[in-house]
Amino acid sequence: MTTATSSTLESINPATGQPIGSVPVTPVGEIDAVVARAREAQKAWGALSTAERVEMLRPVAKAIEARADEIGDLMTSEMGKPTVEGRGEAAYAASCVPGALDSIMEALAPEHLEDQAVETTLYYDPYGVCGVITPWNFPFLMPQQTVLPALVAGNTVVLKPSEETPLTGQAFADIYNEFLPEGVLQIIHGDGEQGRALVQSDVNLIAFVGSRATGQHILQSAGGGLKRVILELGGKDPMIVLDDADLDEAADFAVFNSFRNCGQVCVSTERIYVEDGIADKFEQAVIKRVGDFVVGNGAEEGTTHGPMVSTRQKEMVLEQLETAKQQGAVVSCGDTPMEGNFVAPTVLTGLNHDMDIMHAETFGPIACIMRVKDEDEAVTLANDTPYGLGAAVFSGDTDRAANLARRMTAGMIGINKGCGGAKGSPWVGAQQSGYGFHGGTHGHRQFTQVRIVSVPKS
Ligand code: NAD
Repeated sequence: MTTATSSTLESINPATGQPIGSVPVTPVGEIDAVVARAREAQKAWGALSTAERVEMLRPVAKAIEARADEIGDLMTSEMGKPTVEGRGEAAYAASCVPGALDSIMEALAPEHLEDQAVETTLYYDPYGVCGVITPWNFPFLMPQQTVLPALVAGNTVVLKPSEETPLTGQAFADIYNEFLPEGVLQIIHGDGEQGRALVQSDVNLIAFVGSRATGQHILQSAGGGLKRVILELGGKDPMIVLDDADLDEAADFAVFNSFRNCGQVCVSTERIYVEDGIADKFEQAVIKRVGDFVVGNGAEEGTTHGPMVSTRQKEMVLEQLETAKQQGAVVSCGDTPMEGNFVAPTVLTGLNHDMDIMHAETFGPIACIMRVKDEDEAVTLANDTPYGLGAAVFSGDTDRAANLARRMTAGMIGINKGCGGAKGSPWVGAQQSGYGFHGGTHGHRQFTQVRIVSVPKS
C-alpha cells in the first residue's frame, strides 16, 4: 500500500500502517526521454543473437535465489501476503528463469519453409521498445513473466510496476540490471498517470497485466498509433462441483483457491456451482475449513491470511459484500468486522445469478457457493460472464468433466485441479480476460514481429 505526493511514493505496510520506504515518482514529462534511451540501447541489444542475450540473463536465476527470502519479506511488508507465500513467490520466480530462457530461445529460432519453387526463412524479430505495466498481487512474478520474453526477443523494456508495490518493482529491476547493459531495462514509478504516458510514448509494444477496465483504456489509447498490445486481464473464475466429485478434494481446492492471497489472484475461484445432491455436505466442508484460518500480519508465524493490499481494496470488497447481503445472499461464515485493512474470510450461500457478486470481479476473501440442478445449468451459468480466464471442474468421472470443460468459455480449464497447464502451455485469458497472451511457444512469439525472406529455388 502507498501514499503519494507528486514527487514521492511512500510504501506503507498494509498490516501495520507503518512506512517501509519510498521511491521518487517519475515526472510524466521525463518519460519520453526514458523511452528514447531505451530506443538507443535497443540498437546494440537487438543486434546480439538470442543465445547471447540468454547467456547474459542466465545468472539472474541464482541472484534471485540468493535473495529470495529478503525479496519475499519485502512483498509481505509491502502488500501483505504471508511470509511463506512471499518467499515462495520469489523462490518460484528464480526457479522459472532457466526453463523460461530455454523455451523462449527455442520458440524464437528462425524457421525454414519450402515448396517446389521457393525457400523461405521466417524470423522472429524484436519490435523495438516494450512498455511493461504490471499489478501488485504477484509483484515480483508478474514483471518477470512479462519482461523476460520481451528482453530475450531483443526488445528493450521500460517497466512501470504497480504504485502499490514500487519497492518490489525496484528490487526486481535492480537484480536484473546487475547483468544487463545500461538502458536495456529501465523502471519508472507512478500510478495510472505514468502508465498512460508510457502507453502514449514512442514505445512499439505494450505488455500489460492488470484489470479489464485499464486494459480497455490501454487498447483504445494504443490504437491511434497501431501499437502492439498484449493484455492479461481480470477474471471471474467459476468452479463446477459435480455430484460424483471427491468432496474433500473439491472442498480443499475451493477453499485454497478462493482465499489464497486473500482472493487477490486473477485466477481465484470467484463462483462455485455445486450440484444439489451434494450441496449440503460441500458447503459444510468449505465452512469447516475456513474456520481454521488465522488472519493477521503476514510476517507473524501461524498467519494463513494477511491484510488486503490497501484500504481502497478492502472498501471495494466490503461494498460488494454489503450489496450481496441486500440482494439476499446468506452469510454462512465470516463477515465479522475487522480493524485496519483486514477482511474476515467469508462464505456466501443462497446465491443466484441476479446478484451483482456473481458477475463483478471481487478480488477479495469471499467464497460464493450457488446450488444448481444439473451440469447443464452449471455450465450455462459458468459461461454467463464477459470474462474467460480460468475455470475448474471437479468430478469422479474424468470423461464427464472433460466433456463439460469443452463447453466452457474460459481460456484455461483444470479438471480436479487449478487451471495452469503442463510445462510449455500458454497462460491465456479468453473473451475479455485477455487480448494476446503469454507463455508457451505462441505466447513468446507475441513479443516479436514476424518477417519472412524468400528466394527462388534454382
Ligand atoms: P490495475 O489495472 O488497476 O493496475 C495495473 C497497472 O496499470 C498498475 O501499474 C497501474 O498503475 C497501471 N494503470 C492504471 N491505469 C492505467 C492507465 N490508464 N494506463 C496505463 N496504465 C495504467 O490493476 P491492479 O489493481 O493493479 O491489479 C489487479 C487486476 O489485475 C485484477 O483485475 C487481476 O485479475 C488482474 N491480474 C491479471 C492477471 C492475469 O494473468 N490475467 C495476473 C495478475 C493480475
